[in-house]
Amino acid sequence: MRILLVLSLILTAALLLVSFAGAADLTPNELGRVMILEYHKIDYPEERWTRTPENFRRDLETLYAKGYRLINLADLLDRRIATPAGTTPVVLTFDDSSPGQFRYIESNGSVQIDPKSGIGVLEAFIAEKPDFGRAATFYVLPGASKPNRLFNQPEYEGRKLQYLVSRGYEIGNHTLWHANLAKYPEATVRAQVADAQTWIQRYVPDYRTRTLALPHGAYPTDVSWVLRGSAKGTSYSHDAVLMVAGGPAPSPFSRTFDPVRLPRIQAVERELAYWIGYFDKNPGERFVSDGDPNAVTVPTARRDRLRDELRSLRVVER
Ligand SMILES: [Zn+2]
Repeated sequence: MRILLVLSLILTAALLLVSFAGAADLTPNELGRVMILEYHKIDYPEERWTRTPENFRRDLETLYAKGYRLINLADLLDRRIATPAGTTPVVLTFDDSSPGQFRYIESNGSVQIDPKSGIGVLEAFIAEKPDFGRAATFYVLPGASKPNRLFNQPEYEGRKLQYLVSRGYEIGNHTLWHANLAKYPEATVRAQVADAQTWIQRYVPDYRTRTLALPHGAYPTDVSWVLRGSAKGTSYSHDAVLMVAGGPAPSPFSRTFDPVRLPRIQAVERELAYWIGYFDKNPGERFVSDGDPNAVTVPTARRDRLRDELRSLRVVER
């Protein structure tokens, strides 16, 4: 029995060494795939659509330890990936502006971010590990009923949106009240999208949402309705449309990258474990930065997968 225990300890130590070495030795491959993680509630208890604050914190620790670094969707869409060489960009998204994602608490006359809310957990982790980056996109619902209307604290809703933008986070369009866009005619779809932006602009003037996450993952009859246009005096323009599932996204340098159909990974225990484990086992599938935003490093054998318009960038084959 004792020998078995010792053996298993040695094995554990060896595995830890291997996984550490793996994270440090990743070869740049900017045609690898990128995870866009999709969180819903940060709250108790852990459920299908709920991640506890502790489990969310653990997700961040795991991602950090395995060499993932945060970027915003804008950076992905603009192919401005400046994470250090050998690291992998990852995107965090939060849908539906539920209370546990961002909560203020009042104590002794001052107002503070609840450390058990999503943004509280994220900010605390970033303070400990500044090289993790600071980025996330919040797909808020400005016109939903309680408790999903702008994080459910009416007196602070403007302050929250302003805080997010001032810290470099993104606000995304998720329609005014989570309308299933597959069910509605063009005028209603356009009004849902434009109204969401109008409401956000009441608190953050001139802010334009750059991306839209489809409520229920349901596309409208014609996707162009949500991409650009105007309704009720507000014009909108989106560079990407996010789905609710589909696995890791193709590299933005790849021919298969389609910003109108950006897949996401639901950040629940099973899906996260599956995909993090998948990239551990298949490191060649993972986007690994070369650390230089002005060059794109790709395996020679995959050079034909580069988008045509990127030929002006310096391509480093390996
Ligand atoms: Zn939603």
